[in-house]
Amino acid sequence: MIAPILPGATIGVLGSGQLGRMFAIAARRLGYRVHTFSPDQDSPTGQVADHEITASYDDLAAVAAFARDVAAVTFEFENVPSRTVEALGAGTVVRPSGAVLHTTQHRVREKQFLVGAGLPVAPFAIVQQAADLQAGLARVGMPAILKTASFGYDGKGQVRIATADDAASAWARIGWQPAVLEGVVDFTCEVSVVVARAADGTMVDYGAIENAHRDHILDVSVWPARVPADTAAQAVKVARAACEALDVVGVLCVEMFVTRDGEVIVNELAPRPHNSGHLTIDGHVTCQFEQQVRTVCGLPLGSTASHAPAAAMANLLGHEWAHGEPAWAAALALPGVKLHLYGKSEARAGRKMGHLTATAATPDEAEALVREARRRLDPR
Ligand code: AMP
Repeated sequence: MIAPILPGATIGVLGSGQLGRMFAIAARRLGYRVHTFSPDQDSPTGQVADHEITASYDDLAAVAAFARDVAAVTFEFENVPSRTVEALGAGTVVRPSGAVLHTTQHRVREKQFLVGAGLPVAPFAIVQQAADLQAGLARVGMPAILKTASFGYDGKGQVRIATADDAASAWARIGWQPAVLEGVVDFTCEVSVVVARAADGTMVDYGAIENAHRDHILDVSVWPARVPADTAAQAVKVARAACEALDVVGVLCVEMFVTRDGEVIVNELAPRPHNSGHLTIDGHVTCQFEQQVRTVCGLPLGSTASHAPAAAMANLLGHEWAHGEPAWAAALALPGVKLHLYGKSEARAGRKMGHLTATAATPDEAEALVREARRRLDPR
């Protein structure tokens, strides 16, 4: 076991988006210094970090220099090239480990891990060549979704196949890359469970969070998920089992589908804080980002008790700026509503710019409140 890394030390974050920003805010609150490394300047993380290093992930000398100046390194996205992780150096504390990233940054490896761990997944087939797609469709059935094995998120690199005609063009549309063909799950809702796991194997979680997507991007999350208690318990059990089997030291989010008979099926793993867990910042005693700091530094995990009976989060994407600067004051006038903006200057369509959170007495009330807050942002 490595000695705890105590406040005052410097933590490095690879990546510089909103997840790194919220990590850095949590780390600085605890008295740590934060360095961030990414190809970008004036990034969401760089704006709140002590030091922003701007270099390519392929600049291995810069990566090694970054690692030398910090007591530990963490990530804010899982698609870090493995050469970059190796360049951090064998002596550097890296949490989660390169092995965890290796599994979760590739859908084929992730599926094989889940099956090996005995965890529930949708019917799937691995597609390496055209013949695999035909054989896979015969086995998995239609409709199905073809997903690239690498570098897919928020529905990118995915094609739905509903007919034999779609199948012919589907693989071309994702660039003939290795892919996973998945049966479409007829789900009643989607849930996620955020688990934090310390180096000694202890774990905490926040229970099931309910997620609604729009155009494949998370739109609204509600805690606790409005699913039967058995289903929520099953989701937690699966998420903890995944965290343990992957040997994560850090935060893991497990996204799942809930089927009509209340069973859960794992969709994806993310070995980091997740968009659905943003509501823990205002909703819970220790948020997912502070848990990440604690796991990286070897400190005890924090309480996941909630401040209120329910919380909800609504994402703010670039289109909220379509009619001008959103009416922040109108949303913030609602009691229980909190605003988080990520410091991104350009509001492109589909870009995650920030989120709103609401706490309330029930999940329905929290959801209604956060949706009303977002509705009020339109200045027209
Ligand atoms: P992903 O990028 O794999 O997380 O997919 C984004 C969203 O697409 C999911 O949250 C679901 O809403 C939908 N989706 C992905 N895979 C499936 C599936 N096998 N069956 C049904 N819906 C899916």
